[in-house]
Amino acid sequence: MNRDPGLICFKHCKSDIFVFSVPKSCPECNADLTTNTDITPFSIPFPFTRASQYPCSLVLRPTNGDFLRSYSNNADLHIGVTNSRGNIFSYDEHGLKEEPAKDWDECLSIQCNTTSSDVFETSWDSALNTCLQSTTRIITTATHLF
Ligand SMILES: [Zn+2]
Repeated sequence: MNRDPGLICFKHCKSDIFVFSVPKSCPECNADLTTNTDITPFSIPFPFTRASQYPCSLVLRPTNGDFLRSYSNNADLHIGVTNSRGNIFSYDEHGLKEEPAKDWDECLSIQCNTTSSDVFETSWDSALNTCLQSTTRIITTATHLF
């Protein structure tokens, strides 16, 4: 599934303006763009990735919504890492958890493993599972205290 909505950029009134389609008027200054031939819109490569397709990576997405349609500079971000199979391990107010990849279809990814060796992937997965089990054990132990 192609998630690229076709992001376009053009310059007007000394601003870089990012839109999904060229509007009839400038969103910054309201100038009529239908007769303005000075703007040269160009397509922006889609910068986001599907986390499940980036094994052994650091992944980042807005806590709510998505980057293109609802994100603002003061909104919270959610961070996770993927194992060698692209499953997501993230941390929130309930601790470390393994979660479905479906909520991570439009995120920023930073690959942690550029060599893709079996030894690295095995160690990476083992470390993630150890952390997940440790967190579960701590939460379970803490629950028994109350
Ligand atoms: Zn303008």
